[in-house]
Amino acid sequence: MNEPTPAPVTNAPAADRPYLLERVGEAAVVQVYADGFRDLPLRERTLVWHLGQAAIAGRDIFYDQRYAHNLEMRDVLEAIVTHSSGIDRSTLDEIVRYTKLFWINTGPYNNLTSRKFVLACTTADFVAAAQAAARDGARFPLQDGETLDALLARLHPMFFDLDVDPIVTSKTPRAGKDIVTASANNLYVGLTMKDLEGFEEKHPLNSRLVKRDGQLVEEVYRVGGRYGEQIAAIVQHLEAAIPYATEAMARALRALVTFYRTGEEADREAYDIAWVQDKASPVDTINGFVEVYLDARSIKGAWEALVFYVNREKTSQIQTIASQAQWFEDHMPWDPKYRKDGVHGVTANAIDIVIEAGDSGPITPVGINLPNDQAIRERYGSKSVSLSNVNEAYDRSTLPEFRSEFSWTVEEAERSKRWNAFAGELTTNMHEVIGHGSGKVAERLNGSPQAALKEQFSAIEESRADLVALYFLPDRQLVEFGLVPEDAHDEIVRTEYESYTRNALVQLRRVREGTEIEEDHMRNRQMIVHWLMANTSAIDVRTRGGKTYYVMTDPSAFREGVGRLLAEVQRIKGEGDYDAALALFNTYGVHFDAALRDEVVARVDRLQLPSYTGFVMPKLEPVTNDAGEIVDVTISYPLDLTTQMLEYSAATRHLRP
Ligand SMILES: [Zn+2]
Repeated sequence: MNEPTPAPVTNAPAADRPYLLERVGEAAVVQVYADGFRDLPLRERTLVWHLGQAAIAGRDIFYDQRYAHNLEMRDVLEAIVTHSSGIDRSTLDEIVRYTKLFWINTGPYNNLTSRKFVLACTTADFVAAAQAAARDGARFPLQDGETLDALLARLHPMFFDLDVDPIVTSKTPRAGKDIVTASANNLYVGLTMKDLEGFEEKHPLNSRLVKRDGQLVEEVYRVGGRYGEQIAAIVQHLEAAIPYATEAMARALRALVTFYRTGEEADREAYDIAWVQDKASPVDTINGFVEVYLDARSIKGAWEALVFYVNREKTSQIQTIASQAQWFEDHMPWDPKYRKDGVHGVTANAIDIVIEAGDSGPITPVGINLPNDQAIRERYGSKSVSLSNVNEAYDRSTLPEFRSEFSWTVEEAERSKRWNAFAGELTTNMHEVIGHGSGKVAERLNGSPQAALKEQFSAIEESRADLVALYFLPDRQLVEFGLVPEDAHDEIVRTEYESYTRNALVQLRRVREGTEIEEDHMRNRQMIVHWLMANTSAIDVRTRGGKTYYVMTDPSAFREGVGRLLAEVQRIKGEGDYDAALALFNTYGVHFDAALRDEVVARVDRLQLPSYTGFVMPKLEPVTNDAGEIVDVTISYPLDLTTQMLEYSAATRHLRP
């Protein structure tokens, strides 16, 4: 599970280094800094270097998983933007704008709405630009005997037609489609949900399913299998990393290498266990087919990699929550039969990321809790990380108007300015550690509520984790644990409840098309706020000067409602009650009023607030001696998305056919 972007980002306030680098349409581009890297011992810096190479090596896997035409499209775009001398200025500006959004979103689909975006120049201008680039020496991904014109004609619908493959992940398909056929991603080819009835996947997480000659085939992601070249390169870098790892981490890396070689489910489990048992290593990585948000069935893992080190200063809060996990479990407001008896070590750290690729970069989560395998979580616990330097980069670039525009009173905006960062970090930490980490499910689900809840699973699980955090925030025990200052506790609770409520309105800016929400975290937040509106007296909808406000008026009623809803959401997960999940989200979480969205969009556009952020990662470079041994690894900050994306693409081109 991971947490995506919180509040939006824009102009960096007076900071002595740049955070916001540029604005591209709805997106902000922000540099993330890893200040602690320089202080790591050489051994750990060298470890991070090799793991970083393993992260870049797999980047193209996620491009291909997200859309079958992604890599070819990227090649075309990169050929043009790197050979631009003869291209008409306004056409080039549009192609560059589109290319940046393509890099940030890993293809032509908005990561929040799942919907396609297209080039806004004419076909003729695009063809002319490509021809100019070709004259300037650009090389295009031509198939055997194909001309440039034929290539551009073949890819034309992908670049220009909103009706071709319109949605990457569709959980609410139109009539005549199901969640697989309506989704444009590359996880399933030529099959429908009906074909899957009675079919048992041997490699649920790490395969593409293809219907070939009437038969379902699992194309397994492994060395020698699908993505074999990229995976072999990842393995090579992981093996280079092992000598620099702690023993616990080396065990996990060896298990990961084995899994990448065999692709077998048992080896994936062995890796998950080894990874979660490595609790104390100062450097860690996530590398593999992990999160299932891309798949409308919530089964197939999207490839991602993160490399990070522990931020010691910021780790104490999250570790306090983890060390009290049993207390929280014992006080959950749900049926005791869903309580875990002995909570296994939830390992929790604040970390600084050094590189993220695939499903976690350039758009990054702010918190992660893994493994996702429910059976392993219940037996071995989980590891939870809060991405400190990402949070810092968000915080350093929030525009004040963003708070005031949607706050009903000046006091509300002031509270937000004062406490929102603190309250947000605490609730994110609780969400990860005691939210995703808590509870158990009925035996008959065999540790896999995903199978029963299907496309509703992720949104239910995110709701559950949010509700746990919101439920415990006002608890006086938090003062006892030293997590909140007593004299500011009420104000912190009010700040978070107000912010959570406002967000249901403000997040509508991210869904500029249609009247339905696809993204799971957004569904969960809509659902919770609208359920509270319908079932408690905690929230008022008010208007003033033609503007709508969601106003949180009663923290006690808010918390009481959260407790009631949490009991039901845990029951739904615990029993795998698909019908109840579907009804809950259909009633409160999926549909919204287009007129209200248009109002919100107009308000944020007037203030020029971005909807989401792509991050530029630090750049690492090894320094070698005459013998070719690494004697130092330096870190620098590119401050430029284009430079970094072109570097990453060039680094892996040789791995593709
Ligand atoms: Zn989550």
